[in-house]
Amino acid sequence: MTRTVGFVGLGNMGGPMAANLVKAGHRVLGYDLSEQARDRAAGHGVTVTGSAAEAVAEADAVLTMLPTGRHVIDAYRALVPAAARPGTLFVDCSTIAVGDARTAADLARAAGHRAVDAPVSGGVAGAEAAGLTLMVGGTEAEFADAGPLLAGVGRKVVHCGPSGAGQAAKICNNMILGISMIAVSEAFALGESLGLSHQSLYDVASTASGQCWALTANCPVPGPVPGSPANRDYRAGFAAALMAKDLGLAADAAASTDVPVELGRRAAELFAAFAEGGGGGLDFSAIYTTLREETA
Ligand code: NAD
Repeated sequence: MTRTVGFVGLGNMGGPMAANLVKAGHRVLGYDLSEQARDRAAGHGVTVTGSAAEAVAEADAVLTMLPTGRHVIDAYRALVPAAARPGTLFVDCSTIAVGDARTAADLARAAGHRAVDAPVSGGVAGAEAAGLTLMVGGTEAEFADAGPLLAGVGRKVVHCGPSGAGQAAKICNNMILGISMIAVSEAFALGESLGLSHQSLYDVASTASGQCWALTANCPVPGPVPGSPANRDYRAGFAAALMAKDLGLAADAAASTDVPVELGRRAAELFAAFAEGGGGGLDFSAIYTTLREETA
């Protein structure tokens, strides 16, 4: 089904996602505060509007891909009244706190619209290749409507439960990833100190029980996985600042539910220190360089 989609936030992720919705045959009206982002989206067939409100006015689905929960809630306060069509489907794909996702959905539903949270995993490469995994929180009926649309930007769309459940899945997944990147980095640093080559450790762990995505796809040392950011001076990739943000969301959620997540909290501290110390723009696997220094 061809839809009219309003897309707000055409940055590193939103830009390629909007472009893929155009490729999937939808009419996409898009807006971003950044002129550069608007121009890039226009080059991919997005009809750029003069404001976010104009992008959503005639839409039957509104997608947002914004930096933080504050941006999303502020945007919903402005966009919900601007959406003229009753029952417009609001889909927020940003990574934000579970509570903020529920607040945003409540704002949309109170105005007679429908809403799901649908954060994504797969990074910029996944967004460009329409290869994202999407985690959706909303009712069965909302998911039935959102699923086919989201299939245009991803290869896997999972209904995780009611509002906020998509964000819950996202922060749990990224807590696994943050902790496992630290584990892999510490293992390489320890292996080095024991005289073990990176390649030897990789050849064993990648086919043994230490195998994980942080090792085999995003290996934090140069060499064993030629496509990993370590081979290009840790150019992101998935920026350490975003990992620090996601682990902060996980730590906050754990604190509010009294779950200890000791490693999750330690990973949040390490990535926050790394990002604040100047590494925020590097790929998150660059945490290896500081862990190695600490063991040297
Ligand atoms: P980005 O900074 O590249 O893009 C965000 C865009 O939102 C910017 O272009 C900005 O100008 C625009 N914007 C901000 N406020 C706006 C407003 N009021 N109206 C219109 N446009 C506005 O960030 P990104 O990397 O695309 O990430 C977006 C979200 O996706 C974040 O929540 C992030 O955590 C999440 N995410 C990112 C990645 C990744 O690898 N980059 C992966 C998964 C999830």
